[in-house]
This record gives sequence, structure tokens and C-alpha cells, in this order.
Amino acid sequence: MPKYAIDLKSGAIKNEHPIIIGIDLGTTHSLVAIMENGKAQVVKDEFGENALLASLLHLSEDNVFSVGEKARAYIEVDPQNTIYSVKRLMGKSYDDLLSYKDFYGYELLDTGPENLVKIKLRDKSFTPIELSAEILKSLKLRVEKLLDNIVSKAVITVPAYFNDAQRQATRDAGKLAGLEVLRIINEPTAASLAYGIGLDKSVVQTVAVYDLGGGTFDISVLQIQDGVFEVLSTHGDTFLGGDDMDKLIARHWCDQKVFPATFIPSLRKLAEKAKKHLSEHDLFQETDSRFGELSLTRSAFEVIIKPLIDRTLLACEKVLSDANLTINDLDQVIMVGGSTRVPLVKKEVSAFFQKAVFDQMNPDEVVALGAAIQADILAGNQEDLLLLDITPLSLGIETVGGLMDTIIPRNSKVPTKVGRSYTTSVDGQTKLMVSVFQGERDLVNYNRKLGEFVLSGIPPMPAGIPKIDIQFLLDADGILKVKASELRSGVETSVVIQAQYGISEEEMALLLIDSIKNASSDLAARALQESKNEAANVL
Ligand code: ADP
Ligand code: MG
Repeated sequence: MPKYAIDLKSGAIKNEHPIIIGIDLGTTHSLVAIMENGKAQVVKDEFGENALLASLLHLSEDNVFSVGEKARAYIEVDPQNTIYSVKRLMGKSYDDLLSYKDFYGYELLDTGPENLVKIKLRDKSFTPIELSAEILKSLKLRVEKLLDNIVSKAVITVPAYFNDAQRQATRDAGKLAGLEVLRIINEPTAASLAYGIGLDKSVVQTVAVYDLGGGTFDISVLQIQDGVFEVLSTHGDTFLGGDDMDKLIARHWCDQKVFPATFIPSLRKLAEKAKKHLSEHDLFQETDSRFGELSLTRSAFEVIIKPLIDRTLLACEKVLSDANLTINDLDQVIMVGGSTRVPLVKKEVSAFFQKAVFDQMNPDEVVALGAAIQADILAGNQEDLLLLDITPLSLGIETVGGLMDTIIPRNSKVPTKVGRSYTTSVDGQTKLMVSVFQGERDLVNYNRKLGEFVLSGIPPMPAGIPKIDIQFLLDADGILKVKASELRSGVETSVVIQAQYGISEEEMALLLIDSIKNASSDLAARALQESKNEAANVL
């Protein structure tokens, strides 16, 4: 007779083997995958047709969201209430998005530099977290209908460069959709898992993951060893992808047929159709009621998009030099993202890395499939594998005179835990402000403040006597917990650092460049401040 475990609080029957779903929450498409008979499978829509769910949302007059392809028609007729690319807004403030405000057809609300941006839809405002949750709900429902069972746990993927705030936002979106997010994993890690790389613990492998999607390009180099996936470096362009190819085709037709440039937006859908057709054929030809005969050959298309591909290859060069590797060090190159279906992309990337690329699986499905495999590992169905990432910027605290004291250096592997001892600088001091910063500069003023808290209740003692221990704990999702305790009295305070807003990859690069440019002046400033501190101590 079967035995059932009952949750005494809710009275619900506990499922002994809960299903964990894998979700690729993408900028242009999102999808969900599950394990079926030991194999990862994507889950198709209710008609059993499409696994890709367009990451589009529309809010109707009676406040109902439609998600996916159903929302597409509204981009043109009701742009203010139609959301695309919500992933770009995750973990960002209004100020973060100012430079590409024109990109959006909907209204972003200025909620101040310290807060996450909101989006105005009809007479309401929504956070990107709430909007992403609608996409996640739709995917969750898909699986529940298919399995006729409740789904409550998920693994969700994010780009390797996503920072704390963006990861936390993704996690929160999951929670809002009724999903316990067991793990946030990097998209390139998921893609490698989908190809079975890393499942054999005995081999060490170095792989490059080239991901060209609808609106973004990412290249990451991973080292996989003993079941540990380590991101050695990552680069990319947050405004480069298949959408740009569509725009270039539309522009080409406008030039050719002497249409005004205002036709470009309406031509884009046909342009995308032409592009996809040319991945399989040498010629696209169609007579359109509005635009007349439109045609494009594959070779003309290739000439048009070559500069875009060249830009991705520049990033590939950078990612290798950042990781201190040459192409000979790479064992595999994995192609991810719908735009890698373009034959010229495969050809150029393969030529650049001087090896055949992995493209046997559907490039727009691999990330979701890998997430499902990770879910299966977490469910305990596969041998224990660990995922390891690196932190892209140093984390530390402010010490006397505004100096940055780095506690977890950039490029450290996570999860990690580092502790350091401090003391007070003033007699009878009962409080200590702990300000946490991210960045590479010696002076905290130039770095990014992640948060601060006060350790209070320190018994009054002469300066230098209290023993204050500060622990930084960075978990596998890249979320930081900071704990401060005074060891003599036992008082302690801890906080989870959730950065108020995120920074872009470009800004991150700028911060790094800045720290190199200012290295000598920073060093001098630090030396001066340190001697001042020392002099004060002596006095
Ligand atoms: P994202 O990860 O950004 O959500 P995807 O990986 O789903 O994006 O890629 C979407 C892009 O792939 C779109 O620009 C789409 O036009 C392009 N794409 C899809 N199929 C093909 C194809 N057969 N040939 C060329 N491009 C394609
Ligand atoms: Mg993607």
C-alpha cells in the first residue's frame, strides 16, 4: 500500500518527488523545460506547437494581461500598454535606463536614483519584477496543464554578467509567480550542461559559449572541473542581436525601393521572415500588399550583417584575453541563441575559434534544457554537481578616511565566506557604521555603495579595544550577506545586501578601466590617508 506524507500545517499531501522546472527567462523568448524519462524536454504551448513563448505582455482595458504571441499585435496599435524586453529593466533604476529611454514604446516612471524603475500601464504602475512574473506564471501553467499537477519549484537562468540586484529581481519574480527558486544559474552554464559537458567529473574542459539572441550578445568562457562550473570571463553587447539584422534588412529595402525611413518599423516583421528564410534558402521573395515585391539573396544579406558579426568577434577576442587564454586552450565552442541559426554566424565563429562549433541542439532551447538538467541535479536525481561562479567586482567596506577595504576581491569564486577583524577608532565608541561597497578604486567615493548598517550596543571601551569581526558571505546565486559582531560583548547585526539598483556591463567595464587609469593617484591618496590615520593613532 502506498504511503502519503501529509503537511500538517496545510493538510496538503506532500509530493515525495516534486517536479522542478527549468526556465530560460529571455529578452525576446522565454521557455520552460522538464525531465521526462531521464531526458530534458522543452514544454510546448497548449496547442502543442511552439516551445518559445515571446517575452511580450499586453495589459487590456479591463486589466488583464495577455502574454506571448497574443500580445504582439498590440506593439503597433497600443504601444503604451505593450511590454517587450522587460528583462533589460530587471534590477535597474530609472537613471540606469536613461541613455536608452527611446528604446521603449512604453513609459518608464522616474522613481528616483535609489529605487527600482516602474512602468506605467494604463492608470497603474508595475515593477519589472511583477511583469516578469506574468511570463513565469504563463510558463508554470503550461507545465501544470501538461502534467496535471502543481508545480512549485524552479531553476531560472540569467546572463553571466547579471549582478546582485538583477539576480535578486529574477528570484523575486519567481516568488511572485508562485515558484520557489531553488537556484539562479548562468545561461552559459546551462547551455554547457545541455550538451552534457560537466556531467563527467573526470575531465577538465574549457568552453566558450557564444550566445546571439534577439537583442543581446554574450560570450563567456567557462572552465569545468570536478563538476564545478567556473565562469573565467564574460563579455558582450547588450544592444546587438537578431533585431539589428531585421532593422538592417528593413533599411536595405527602404534604400532599394526609395521608401521613406519611416517605413522601417512596419517592414521589420517581413525582414525577420526573410532572415529566417535565408537560414535555409538562398533567396527570399515575397509580394506584399503594402510594399510590393520584396526580395533578398543570402549573399546580399551576408554583406549587410557582416559588420554585426565582426563586432561579436571583437568581444570574443576580449573574452579570451581577459581569461588569459588563446583559442588553442578551448576544448569546445557552444552556439546559443536563435540568431546563431544564421549560417554566416556559424561560419565566422567557427573560423575565428578554428574549430567546429557545437550546434546540434536547437540554439534557442539549450539554455532551458540545461536549467532542467540542473533542476534534476538539485532534485537529487543525478550525482552531485556544484556550480561555481566568479564575482565580477570586488566587495569591501569603508574604513577610516573613506578608504576601501576589499574583503572579497574581484574574480573570487563563489560561494565564499571571508571574515576580517576591525576595532573602533574613538574612545567609548558604542556604534559602528558598516558601509558596503563594490568596485576597484582605493577610495570608496569612486566605488558603488551597496548598502550600510549600524552595529550598535558595543560596550564603551577605549579606542582599539573592541574586537569587531566582519563576515562577508557570498552565496551561489551571488547574493551577499554581511554580518558584524563585537566579540567581547557578543553583540551582532547582519544584513542581506540587496543593491537598490544594478549597473550595466558597460558601466562595470568603465569602473575597471577607471581603477587602472587612476591606480597611481589612488595609491598616493591611500598612502596619505593611511599616514594620517597612523599619526592620529600615535597622537
Ligand atoms: P533571447 O535569448 O534574446 O530571448 P533567442 O535566443 O530566442 O533570444 O533568439 C531570438 C532571435 O533569433 C530573434 O532575433 C529571431 O529572429 C532569431 N532567429 C530565430 N530563428 C532564426 C532563424 N531560423 N534564422 C535566423 N534567425 C533566427
Ligand atoms: Mg537567450
